Amino acid sequence: MISIACLLGKKDFRSVARFAFISDIHGNLPALEAVMDYIDNLRVDGTLCLGDVVGYGPNPAECLERVQEIASFCVLGNHDKAVFDDLEAARFNRNAKLAIEYTRDQLNDEHIDYLKSLSEFENLEDVSVSHASPITDAGSDYIHDQTIAARAYAGFTNACLFVGHTHVPIAFGTPDIGYAKVEPSEVRVALLPPSLPLRLAPSYRYILNPGSVGQPRDGNPDAAFGLLDTDEHSFTIHRCPYDIEAAYFAIINAGLPDFLAHRLRIGA
Ligand code: ZN
Repeated sequence: MISIACLLGKKDFRSVARFAFISDIHGNLPALEAVMDYIDNLRVDGTLCLGDVVGYGPNPAECLERVQEIASFCVLGNHDKAVFDDLEAARFNRNAKLAIEYTRDQLNDEHIDYLKSLSEFENLEDVSVSHASPITDAGSDYIHDQTIAARAYAGFTNACLFVGHTHVPIAFGTPDIGYAKVEPSEVRVALLPPSLPLRLAPSYRYILNPGSVGQPRDGNPDAAFGLLDTDEHSFTIHRCPYDIEAAYFAIINAGLPDFLAHRLRIGA
């Protein structure tokens, strides 16, 4: 059903291909490094990033450089875009705006050129990737319920769309009935617990969110990422403990708003 290996330049394509999906790192270097170590041990075939590498956190430059090293592909998140787009930044709340001003001070021209090179939505052969909903007139681009998800299905034609943005690991599925309009009542939704593979049925189309590496908001403070297994046709959330106190004090010491540090301790 899904074979993104060829696209990602894997010459030695095996029957088992596994891809890690990371998202919403938000300048949290301890979380990113812990996730990178975890992914290393899983021996994945590729890592894809769903955006918001920067914003909120104290180490945007280091996180951008790590992502450039490890990710086969990365899409542009709204916080990434706000670094070079004042209109995007103007939509932010006070804490997010303060963090973007801090982030701009931390990044050099190369970092910003890299961010400018990223696209907000991409079809990668058999799957699509986007930070937020590809349908922007839905009232909200946060895909957190069946109504928003139903509209988002009109924005892609592949079997799977991988998104971030809500910082909550969640899956939406709907029967594949061609590209007719999807009604909210036809969309099934499941919050994704750790380590429990979601089996992907070939007759369904999915919107899959791996949660957030650097600022989880589902009540679990551990870093989250997703693993797609194209042989088992499964998507599994992994949770990765990291040094939250190091991230906490890095935020305080950078002079960023206290709230951004506190929320890491509670995963909110
Ligand atoms: Zn985010």
